[in-house]
Amino acid sequence: MLLCDFHIHTTYSDGSVELRRTIDLFGQAGFDVIAITDHVVNGDNPLGKLAHRFKYSVTASNFDQYMSDIRQEAERAHDKYGMLVIPGIEITKNHLSTDNSAHMLIIDVQDFIPACISYEEIFLEAKKQNALTIACHPHYMSAKSDRDTLFLWNNRDKYARYIDAWEIANRDDVFNVISLKKYPYIANSDFHKPRHLYSWKTLLNCDKEIDPIKQCIKHNKGVALTLFRN
Ligand code: ZN
Ligand code: ZN
Repeated sequence: MLLCDFHIHTTYSDGSVELRRTIDLFGQAGFDVIAITDHVVNGDNPLGKLAHRFKYSVTASNFDQYMSDIRQEAERAHDKYGMLVIPGIEITKNHLSTDNSAHMLIIDVQDFIPACISYEEIFLEAKKQNALTIACHPHYMSAKSDRDTLFLWNNRDKYARYIDAWEIANRDDVFNVISLKKYPYIANSDFHKPRHLYSWKTLLNCDKEIDPIKQCIKHNKGVALTLFRN
């Protein structure tokens, strides 16, 4: 099975490790498939404006550079490690209330998607780009209770049909509610620091190519979880 991590941050947003070193960390650890998913933060409230001021967000103006850096590193990763690197972003809608906050991975993104447009517009845009939409850390987390992101779970009756998969595990947390709902699931590290390499991961039983990987996740067929330890 393919050892995968679809939720990884670099210094393009609030990760502490530069893209090139991140690729080497995962390549040397034997990963088959990873997605780089730096934050795209909503700039329409004080919280978001702060993230932009500290450059914790990919923006419309550096998105092309972000994508070309990932594509260049993807080529190197393929040659050096046989590892597939997929470009992605984490749409980050931060609000003071955890009930109104939501984070979504857009996996295999092609064009910039701003975080301040409506959920409907984001889902539509992701679909147009043939990208996967993943609901991140959708329930209560153990460590960061002030930063829980509950909006998508609270509004699942309205939005679940647009979401390709939900994170059933994020780093050290497992979200039992996702299994009860029988939603498609994956598990990711939400990598920000080297020690986050050791965390929940996804195993996929498919070819190491972008389309079979997306199908596998969407149809929730041949998907397993593993707690990756040193
Ligand atoms: Zn997040
Ligand atoms: Zn994240």
